[in-house]
This record gives sequence, structure tokens and C-alpha cells, in this order.
Amino acid sequence: MSGTIRDRLRQRLAGAAAEQMVDELFAFMAEHGQTFYDEIVTQIEHALQCAELAQQRDFGDEAVTAALLHDIGHLLVGEFEAQQGPPKQDFIHEEVGADFLTDYFPEQVTEPIRLHVAAKRYLCSTDPEYYDQLSDGSKRSLEVQGGRLSPDEQTELEGNPFLNVALEIRRLDDLGKLSDHNAPPIETYRDTVAKCLRSNSRGSVNSDYTARG
Ligand code: FE
Ligand code: FE
Repeated sequence: MSGTIRDRLRQRLAGAAAEQMVDELFAFMAEHGQTFYDEIVTQIEHALQCAELAQQRDFGDEAVTAALLHDIGHLLVGEFEAQQGPPKQDFIHEEVGADFLTDYFPEQVTEPIRLHVAAKRYLCSTDPEYYDQLSDGSKRSLEVQGGRLSPDEQTELEGNPFLNVALEIRRLDDLGKLSDHNAPPIETYRDTVAKCLRSNSRGSVNSDYTARG
């Protein structure tokens, strides 16, 4: 198959039944997630650690799915395959990922993903201790992501109903970078992800989506 990484995944998902869509998504994550997220973990290890933390905190299916897939945008643009080392350019992976997933998942999954970088910029703007504990990679990428938010940008973000979950996921994002941690395999999330797919959940997605725990 030709086309971009994104096009090829879209082709594989086209017309697939829910179970098959999960197969394709998981195969994609496994195949393209072997590149390094930062100096310590690969993309797939980071995704699995974030999903594990979300599940441990009893976040609910949509937020666990969002945690697992929050960085899929990096993989969809082949960002880490195209360049060696940390990002020097912002590919807006949060938008790429959320836009791609919108065809398959409800906004309870896609919007926290879209906001996870804004959530980091928000925390850096409002919590002085937050910035200090970021990994070196996260501090570096903050600059290419636009740095701290202005007061107006903060106020605008505070009006977004998905900010709270995005902030919860963002905090996991910072924790999901452990070396030598064997997180449960991606298959652990088969039912969770399948339940969130639009084809499975249309009309029945839980709109109360505040992260618990
Ligand atoms: Fe990210
Ligand atoms: Fe991340």
C-alpha cells in the first residue's frame, strides 16, 4: 500500500468491524511505537505506562483509551522515524492524533488528546513546581510547543469542558517514563478500547467523563 503512514492506517481501518479495528490500531502501535519517546522509553512503553496509570486511578474507559492513544500523532507523522533525537520542529502531534481518531472515537477520547499539550503549557503557566519536575525532553519540547500560556489563553482553556481530564492525563504523561518497568501488554486494553469505538458506543458513551480517583 502506498501513501502516508496516516493514509495506510486509515485504509486498514476502513470498513473494519470493531474487533478488527482494535487489532489494526494495536498492530500499528506495536509496529510504529518502537522508536524512542525520550531518552528512556519507547513510544509504546510510554503509551502502556500511561494507560496502566490511568487504569490504576480508575479513570474510566474513555480516559484510559485517551491515555493509551494520546501520542499516536507522533506515530502517524512518523516524527521520530524522520528525525534522530528530540524534536526540533513541532508537528502538532496532539492535533494530528485527535483529528485522526475523531472518525473512530467520541470526543471524550479525542478532546483530552487534543488538549494534552495545552494542558502541559497550562500547568507550566500556573504551577511553578510543575515545570521543575518535567523531564529534560519535556522541557525542551515545551519551547517548540509555544512555551507558557498568556493569561488570556489560560482563561480560554479554563472554559474547555475537557481541560480537567486533559490535566489528569498530562500528569500521567509525566509519570509514564520509567525505565525497567514492565507495564501490562496492549492486549490488556482490548475491551476498554473496543467499548469506546463509535461503532460500538454510539449513543451510549458515558457523558459524565470526569476522571475519578
Ligand atoms: Fe504528547
Ligand atoms: Fe506523552
